[in-house]
Amino acid sequence: MNLTSVDNPSPKALGHSLKPPSMFCKEQRTQFVLRAIDQAHEDRELMLGRMVLLSRCNPNVSRCPSLSLPLTLLLLMLWPLFGLAQDAILPPEQPWNGASQALIAPAGDPWITPAEQADFRRTPRYDATVAWLQRLELASAQIHMVPLGQSPEGREIWMVIASQDQAFTPEALRATGKPTLLAQAGIHSGEIDGKDAGLMLLRDLTVRGTQKKLLEQANLLLVPLLNVDGHERFSRYARINQRGPEESGWRTNARNLNLNRDYTKLDTPEIRAIVHALNMWQPDLYVDMHVTDGADYQYDITWTYNGPQGHSPSIAKWLDQVLSPAAFAALQHEGHIPAPFYITLVEDLNPNKGRTQSLDLALVSTGYGDVRHVPTILVETHSLKPYHQRVLGTYMFLKSALETLGQGSRELRQAIQEDRDRRPATQTLSWKQLDKDHLPPSLPKAPFQGIEYELVPSAISGTVRVIWTGRPVELHIPVIQLQDPEAQARRPKAYWVPSTWPEVIERLRWHGVAMETLTEAREVEVERLKMQKPVLARKPHEGHIAVCIADKDIEPRHRRQKYAPGSVRVPTDQALGDLAMVLLEPASPDSFFHWGFFLEILQRTEYAEDYVMEPIAEKMLASNPQLAEEFKHKLLEDNAFRSDPKERLDWFYTKTPYFDDQWQLYPVGREEDPNNPRTDRVESPPKDKDRHTSTCQDGD
Ligand SMILES: [Zn+2]
Repeated sequence: MNLTSVDNPSPKALGHSLKPPSMFCKEQRTQFVLRAIDQAHEDRELMLGRMVLLSRCNPNVSRCPSLSLPLTLLLLMLWPLFGLAQDAILPPEQPWNGASQALIAPAGDPWITPAEQADFRRTPRYDATVAWLQRLELASAQIHMVPLGQSPEGREIWMVIASQDQAFTPEALRATGKPTLLAQAGIHSGEIDGKDAGLMLLRDLTVRGTQKKLLEQANLLLVPLLNVDGHERFSRYARINQRGPEESGWRTNARNLNLNRDYTKLDTPEIRAIVHALNMWQPDLYVDMHVTDGADYQYDITWTYNGPQGHSPSIAKWLDQVLSPAAFAALQHEGHIPAPFYITLVEDLNPNKGRTQSLDLALVSTGYGDVRHVPTILVETHSLKPYHQRVLGTYMFLKSALETLGQGSRELRQAIQEDRDRRPATQTLSWKQLDKDHLPPSLPKAPFQGIEYELVPSAISGTVRVIWTGRPVELHIPVIQLQDPEAQARRPKAYWVPSTWPEVIERLRWHGVAMETLTEAREVEVERLKMQKPVLARKPHEGHIAVCIADKDIEPRHRRQKYAPGSVRVPTDQALGDLAMVLLEPASPDSFFHWGFFLEILQRTEYAEDYVMEPIAEKMLASNPQLAEEFKHKLLEDNAFRSDPKERLDWFYTKTPYFDDQWQLYPVGREEDPNNPRTDRVESPPKDKDRHTSTCQDGD
């Protein structure tokens, strides 16, 4: 999936000390070439050894010393120690002495958290985390732990409820009238700041009491560890680009699935558990806590959410005007360097090209929250900042969010209701991606707190490598908002899903989409969609083979359709109507069709024998002059067709009533809305290129 605003992008660089290779001085260029030759000819020397030596080369010496075989073997044996020395390899650490350090419990405090106890060098394992929380639950009447579900390896996924009113059921929590924040940590379990920040905050809200006022106006639901199995794939080699903790968990779950790509297809028990929690507990705000890699910059914490061009414009306005400025001020006050946007540069090594701001699709938490009208924020601390700084930044963000919720929940709930009541006649299914070759001529600029860098030749990559100097640099760079719709769909009155696709019906239920289930067969007038040119991805993605279809290759057909008992009617006139459209419109990159849930309809199961088709084709040509003309024209124009006997016969077969009329016909029917009929209105804006098809061709 081609996403632009998710965590862990490819490495990016910024700064002002750019030196293209052509600008290197002559000696440096010579050195560069010699090193490249060394690399090519001395293949018995391991890359590891060369990397270490090259970085120590004296620029005044024309050749780097070669490694002897014994030295190479020694280096290989010492490889485990390089994990310990990772901090020295990472770009320079920025000095930081933020006031939020006062939040850290002193040594000897009976409620010190495991991370604090370890001076933030280590984060606790699953068992130690759960044990610490269970001790807190025993000590505080305001804390209660509930299991949300089990992981594939059988671990319990816990949610901790912090409620001053001891409201530990969804009904009791709603009855408090207070707004509720649901914060989850460790969806990517190597990015675990939220777990240790959450433990500190739960402690301060209750037994330590330093933040207990926050619970007077709001409730907190904390999932300290969502990817519990990934977390227990614990090692010092899980996060190569990250400055601590010393050991951490793995990004994906035990089946190697990325939980933050599973929000629409719901393959994993972990995401099914959190979606069930969203349905049951109905939080007013949902925060998903991560750590991002990428370029070096000054910011230690960034956050993002879908803006007003998404599915929840009223919520986006509240986040823009209320929550985000408050979080920014609170973090800055405590000495953090916050940015209320996610950092995606247009060009990795040229920050002057600007950064982009885009909208997330529903397969990730922020896009999913947007389409189901739950205010949802992605928090990303910066992997190059030390662990204690990141944990404290996350703590401050959660604290500020709880404060803001407590003070402004009436306006937020009004915004949520407005978005849930909205029924747009045309629904955006995806947004246009960045087209680097056609950037707008003039763009608004905004300050950017970067880190200076230099580019030097690399014998490893054969090009240049970036070296971050650690010196802060203040830039002013263009900001590109990516918010123009790409695929769109007209809102039907309802969708009809046949009982023959139970895995799709089951997933709609898991999402909480309301539907009517037929107890006896019913005939309905529906619009069925014929897929003219579906394209299959070349490689699997998250356990699926994606199928892409562009709007222009979907042909609507009206027919009377009989639905068997067990089939469902999914009305779009419901709070989750937008979500139903995103899941069921085949042109949506978040649809079940795109994820390959309907691969069966793409295969042909009946064929005509040549000796049968020949006489039928002759009769068709004789009786239909227009068809004969069309055939003649195709023979002239299409070389491949002309030279393929099977294709020529098949061309006639597809035009007979014997041909399978269900082939490539999308099984889900659209029940038309008489108030929103198909008109001459353009269904989708014109496209420069077919992104869906190209996504599949890229092997997404
Ligand atoms: Zn992440």
